[in-house]
Amino acid sequence: MDDEAAGARTAAGILRRQSLRESGARTYARSLPVVPVRARGMTIEGADGRRYLDCLSGAGTLALGHNHPVVLQAIREVLDSGAPLHVLDLATPVKDAFTTALFETLPRELAERSRVQFCGPAGTDAVEAAIKLVRTATGRSGLLAFSGAYHGMTAAALAATGDTAVRGAAGGSADATVARLPYPYDYRCPFGVGGELGAELGARLTANLLDDPKGGIQPPAGMILEPVQGEGGVIPAPDAWLRRMREITAARGIPLIADEVQTGVGRTGAFWAVEHSGIVPDVMVLSKAVGGSLPLAVIVYREELDTWLPGAHAGTFRGNQLAMAAGAATLTYVRENGLAGRADLVGGRMLARLRGLAAHHPCIGDVRGRGLMIGLELVDPRAEPDDHGALPAAPHFAAAVRQEALRRGLIVELGGRHGAVVRLLPPLTITDEQAEAVLDRLADSLAAVERMEPSDDRASGQ
Ligand code: PMP
Repeated sequence: MDDEAAGARTAAGILRRQSLRESGARTYARSLPVVPVRARGMTIEGADGRRYLDCLSGAGTLALGHNHPVVLQAIREVLDSGAPLHVLDLATPVKDAFTTALFETLPRELAERSRVQFCGPAGTDAVEAAIKLVRTATGRSGLLAFSGAYHGMTAAALAATGDTAVRGAAGGSADATVARLPYPYDYRCPFGVGGELGAELGARLTANLLDDPKGGIQPPAGMILEPVQGEGGVIPAPDAWLRRMREITAARGIPLIADEVQTGVGRTGAFWAVEHSGIVPDVMVLSKAVGGSLPLAVIVYREELDTWLPGAHAGTFRGNQLAMAAGAATLTYVRENGLAGRADLVGGRMLARLRGLAAHHPCIGDVRGRGLMIGLELVDPRAEPDDHGALPAAPHFAAAVRQEALRRGLIVELGGRHGAVVRLLPPLTITDEQAEAVLDRLADSLAAVERMEPSDDRASGQ
């Protein structure tokens, strides 16, 4: 008991100092006042001794959960070997092994004739590199990107991101070279029809704008898309739509960039999410899970695009040996143990149970996802539905569910256009029992929020 009280005091002190000393831009730390001190698999233990099931997984980074033994072993081996930890972009056995492991997982057509560029450590660095690469290779500057997209927080990646609030706040850097196209979003279909037709109308609009000499689109160097939008609200693109985007871009000589930063490494039930549709992009952007929990980001692209001259894309931190070792171990473990298939199976079961839950909770407007990338769009059931039957998003409700979940030892985050989508990104190693526990806690949290009076502070997100 004394230990617990002391732990709680330590945690409170750390959180207080964080709020006083860290930037106003801090994000997760605001809604998740947890001070992690230990973690294993899906479980995080806070300084106050409380344990949580982590369904955020470092924003989708931890394919194998926290501190997986094969990852720790790989890191230890590098440390014990006396290998240098910092090597710029020099060749090392560790990097060689990572590249081999990566190429073994890639779609064959790409693996056979591609190049890899090790970028700065974050996903956004790899997105920048991809955009710069296609601009160099094509000599064009335009970029096709989608509504709801999230590609990162640095200049070109931010310009491709759909959120005008963050773009505007960064000095109005809404890049005039970026054309915004509609992403197929069944529940809130921009054409009011949803389904295959809604997706097809988006594809036609895209082709039409590209072919119209007065369509207002700057000649595009590339098209960038997420096969499943993550931050945009867990929206899987229909396979047929992805194939249409591939046809449209291929027919017009426009390189297609698949941002698999969040969807990669088994997350969606295939090793790479593009495999569901069978398309082969010209550039793949990879980060998060490829570093096995440490920072690593690469782009893989067709050989023909490699028009870069020496030094065209440099950077000091492109040789993180520990991340490469952890990443290689993760890629190999996911592949050898069929964890993409496991994600598909468990994710499918979780989606089915959530759909059952939606029948009893009118605040769940939509349940969607692919593999272990799952989202629940929360809505206001007292409001009037639109023509297509969709209810207005309920971000305060979602924030209250996140808070109630935390009280019940479950870490979830929000996403979506209105911040009203509760997102589940558990590790691919989640057990059946853990999946049940996650859904039980989530169901209890939803019920608790529904019981609150509308004027209740927590339900109104204050
Ligand atoms: N692309 C996608 C699809 C992402 O989900 C993210 C991060 N959530 C990024 C790019 C940017 O990655 P990072 O935060 O590491 O810069």
